[in-house]
Amino acid sequence: MKRVLSGIQPSGNLHIGNYLGALKNWVRIQYDYESIFCIVDLHAITTYQDPAELRRKIEETAALFLAAGIDPKHSAIMVQSAVHGHAELAWMLTCVTPVGWLERMTQYKAKAAAQETIGDGLLQYAVLMAADILIYQAAIVPVGEDQSQHLELTRDVAQRFNSLYGETFVVPETELPSVGARIMGLDDPEKKMSKSVPGSGHAIGLLDEPALARKKIMRATTDSQPAIDFDKIGPGVANLLNIFQAFGGWTDQQMQAHFAGMRYGDLKKQVADMVISGLGPLQKRYNEIVSEPGYLASVLAQGAQRVTPIANSTVELVKRRMGLYTES
Ligand code: ATP
Ligand code: MG
Repeated sequence: MKRVLSGIQPSGNLHIGNYLGALKNWVRIQYDYESIFCIVDLHAITTYQDPAELRRKIEETAALFLAAGIDPKHSAIMVQSAVHGHAELAWMLTCVTPVGWLERMTQYKAKAAAQETIGDGLLQYAVLMAADILIYQAAIVPVGEDQSQHLELTRDVAQRFNSLYGETFVVPETELPSVGARIMGLDDPEKKMSKSVPGSGHAIGLLDEPALARKKIMRATTDSQPAIDFDKIGPGVANLLNIFQAFGGWTDQQMQAHFAGMRYGDLKKQVADMVISGLGPLQKRYNEIVSEPGYLASVLAQGAQRVTPIANSTVELVKRRMGLYTES
């Protein structure tokens, strides 16, 4: 069975972009593969995180994976830093990755521009991500569109390693959702919705109360047209329609027939209703999961236990390939 790997950083409040671009698809495809889903805390610390808050967000993120429908009986849910091989393999891959490849990464450039001083980890981010994927010999990586470039880099690193040291890694494929691969900020539809972007009107959190979600949608940036014209659609309206379509699973034809000519105020009301009804069951399950003492910890412990032997065997293989010291 092919393996799937994907992860989310516990770097803030998970939002509907994380859900529509990543989580929702993990849930859909999990049973078709051997699936591993990771809370990537080592990635989160590439920008400063308050320690107590980070610890809390790791658990919240794990609970949201479960609430969204990841089945821990089938899929491993684990915290990246609990499996030591990720960081170890990242070093070995760093040594075969040209710095120029990393400096070209859009996410690096954007996040570096937002910081006064940049930790080296921000540059190394993409190598650590390659390690997360390659350590499990994952064939499929379901992510949002913003991660395509990192996936290309992962493929390049795997191929470079394979050509230098002999066939070692599976070269993974990127899987993007057909709708919802890039949800934009409600306050600025030119920028992707992100956990780490401040501003109360930017993102809809998966745990936002219905009234708050509605308020944010009603205030979303649109344009100066009064109503929807599919021939000249602005980015804000396109984003709202995209959110509706991704939650509702409607076809393009259904969307056009229903929304053509609709006034923006009515569009927003319908998007709010759709988002609120989409998040309701998830929020209910979230509350159940966090009120069950010990459950989350046991899921994470089992997840780490299940994947550690796979990670260790790849690290051993890489060590042998590179000529590093191994006991056997
Ligand atoms: P940060 O601002 O801390 O980078 P983020 O919102 O970008 O947070 P990540 O943890 O970096 O979230 O990404 C987790 C997953 O969510 C990835 O698969 C990513 O492609 C996807 N994703 C992130 N933002 C969006 C978005 N706006 N639309 C669709 N998918 C997204
Ligand atoms: Mg991100």
